[in-house]
Amino acid sequence: MFRSATTRKRRDFLRTGIVAAAGSMLGLKVTKGGVGAPAIKSKTLRPVAISSGNGLAATEKAMEIVFNGGDCLDAAVAGVKIQEDDPEDTSVGYGGLPNERGVVQLDASVMHGPTHRAGAVGALENIRYASEVAKIIMERTKRVFLVGKGALEFARMYGFKEENLLTEQARSLWQYWIENRSKFDDYMTPTESLDDIPEQLRYFIDTGGTINLNVLDTHGNLGGCTTTSGLAFKIPGRIGDSPIIGAGLYVDNEFGAAGSTGLGEVNIQTCASFLVVEEMGRGKTPTDACMAVCQRIVERTKVGYLWRDGRPAFNVNFYAINKRGEFGCASILSGSQYAVHDEDGARHMDAAYLYERG
Ligand code: ASP
Repeated sequence: MFRSATTRKRRDFLRTGIVAAAGSMLGLKVTKGGVGAPAIKSKTLRPVAISSGNGLAATEKAMEIVFNGGDCLDAAVAGVKIQEDDPEDTSVGYGGLPNERGVVQLDASVMHGPTHRAGAVGALENIRYASEVAKIIMERTKRVFLVGKGALEFARMYGFKEENLLTEQARSLWQYWIENRSKFDDYMTPTESLDDIPEQLRYFIDTGGTINLNVLDTHGNLGGCTTTSGLAFKIPGRIGDSPIIGAGLYVDNEFGAAGSTGLGEVNIQTCASFLVVEEMGRGKTPTDACMAVCQRIVERTKVGYLWRDGRPAFNVNFYAINKRGEFGCASILSGSQYAVHDEDGARHMDAAYLYERG
């Protein structure tokens, strides 16, 4: 069986969900690291928001909107914008790590279950709210995906403010990377040991970044958003899985919603988020669906990203909710956490996983 800290919690959750459904109004509390969500009341079954580990405040924001009767996708985008605004989150929006030329290029996607519509933006420069641009593409055009210069012009037309997204912290981490990437280039290489890697960079290398947030609202509708600055120091123009519908995000209002963080290329090559939702549609629990896709990715990865003994040298994480409001998360490597907010309040939980890290 899968090692999962979530399994027991999920059973508890099912039990508490039934009690809640049988009766009364829900009063939410905030546990571990919460930022004080108001007591929220609802008559409906199990609305829930699930996110990557950096999204605790995002899930709280989303649930506040949901419990005021708001739409699943409005809630998801309002939530992720907290991270897009945060200069300390070097994986998304303002303060995200740049590409190899020092330019921040953002990717994002949204998907709205009730209308089965999607919007996405890739390699967007100078606009911090990539999530919102993706949502406007979905709402105001007949198209799904805009990239680069066209995406920027589109955002300008809708009144988005242009700004320099490269913070001093991100710039200095980029400078460090440039100076240390090779012994055979023009730069002195001050760092001799991997132990000397700046802490923020080590964190990024070890855990990755990006925020994915999926929401089940009080109308029983599902929506999701994934937004990122992508892999740090990527080749200019590289677009990962986050803005690719079916790879970094997928929502089917009958079955569930799923999204991902981690190495985007393997998700693109397996249509990974689509597959998580399909597995839920075939009856798997969210955690088991996420695990099945992690397993599929490992089985299909034959070239690159592997240690000599064949074990994966990369990670991906999946975050999923089904139509009943059950949720789960799984990763290829151990050590990931996710954020969730339901009637038990906002909290971090450990992801199920396939391999011990290291
Ligand atoms: N999935 C993102 C990408 O490949 C990066 C990440 O989640 O860390 O662009």
